[in-house]
Amino acid sequence: MASVNRLMRAIRVFEFGKPEVLKLCPDVPVPSPGETQVLIRVHACGINPVETYIRAGAYARIPSLPYTPGSDVSGVIEQVGKNVTSFKNGDRVFTTGTITGGYAEYALASEDTVYHLPDQLSFKQGAAISVPYFTAYRALFQKAHGKPGEVVLVHGASGGVGIAACQIARAYGFQVFGTAGTPEGLDLVLKNGAHKAFNHREKDYIDKIQEASGGRGIDVILEMLSNVNLSNDLKLLAAGGRVIIVGCRGPIEINPRDTMAKESSIIGVSLFSATKEEKAESSAALFAGMEAGWLRPLTGPEYPLEKAAQAHVDIIQTGGATGKMVFVI
Ligand code: NAP
Repeated sequence: MASVNRLMRAIRVFEFGKPEVLKLCPDVPVPSPGETQVLIRVHACGINPVETYIRAGAYARIPSLPYTPGSDVSGVIEQVGKNVTSFKNGDRVFTTGTITGGYAEYALASEDTVYHLPDQLSFKQGAAISVPYFTAYRALFQKAHGKPGEVVLVHGASGGVGIAACQIARAYGFQVFGTAGTPEGLDLVLKNGAHKAFNHREKDYIDKIQEASGGRGIDVILEMLSNVNLSNDLKLLAAGGRVIIVGCRGPIEINPRDTMAKESSIIGVSLFSATKEEKAESSAALFAGMEAGWLRPLTGPEYPLEKAAQAHVDIIQTGGATGKMVFVI
């Protein structure tokens, strides 16, 4: 139910299509929370590649039109529904989902998708937790069943999910290799948990990774661009190795024989498929990381809502990721 008087600025999508369909509307009614919902004054919202696929109408789950994109909000509780017990006005929070969309000045969220934001993390960092860290944790533990001591390659380590994966894997005792496409990205990967970093734009970088593993190969590959790398990944794996498909933007030809002698596996991951129990496990682990201090979201380029279309161009087209892209609202 919308309150009568208050209006907010929000991005609205009235038709699926190119980035220009992201329209900044100045007069969207501020929603009111239902019984188990909270209203959040949004300070920052994470920008995820999946929001571009949804905006284009090219995704398995698309919302009905019009809608406001964005799930990874951080901000301050403005109002709580009458049955909400875990939050009060003024609490700093972040979300793993919203009801009304995060590219906006206010967002409604169900109480069970809202978490307290620790004091030591900024709002921008709060907006960089949800999709990146929950995906990275799910990929490494719930899908790869990774074990401390194993070698993990974060193939595409300089972006949102990659930095999260490096921090998590390092904290849990893996030997961590990461890749990036620029010197700046490589530096960030090393500063965020990777023992070794490799440039995925260099011709012979796959050989260097194989060498760095002592010729034994990689136990777990978290793959951000499988349509480019899957065939090489299969060759890089150690016996019993697993490639986890996190990102994919098209088809690729592989030789299934490459999986046989090593009895290796290719496993897809979908954050949306996580069960309630799996989400509870992930959040417990991630909050432990926030308490211990190793979970430190790294934010990259910042955008105002006015630049939403540009942000959607940049997240897909430009290389040289340097952490998580966020709206500052
Ligand atoms: P991001 O912040 O845009 O980062 C993209 C990463 O890919 C950067 O580290 C980039 O490195 C790297 N990259 C570019 N070219 C590469 C190459 N040839 N080989 C390996 N890596 C390369 O994106 P993100 O948020 O981390 O998401 C990464 C992918 O995972 C996206 O496709 C996204 O849709 C997907 N995703 C899937 C799930 C799921 O549930 N399955 C959840 C979240 C995200 P440089 O820029 O340094 O070159």
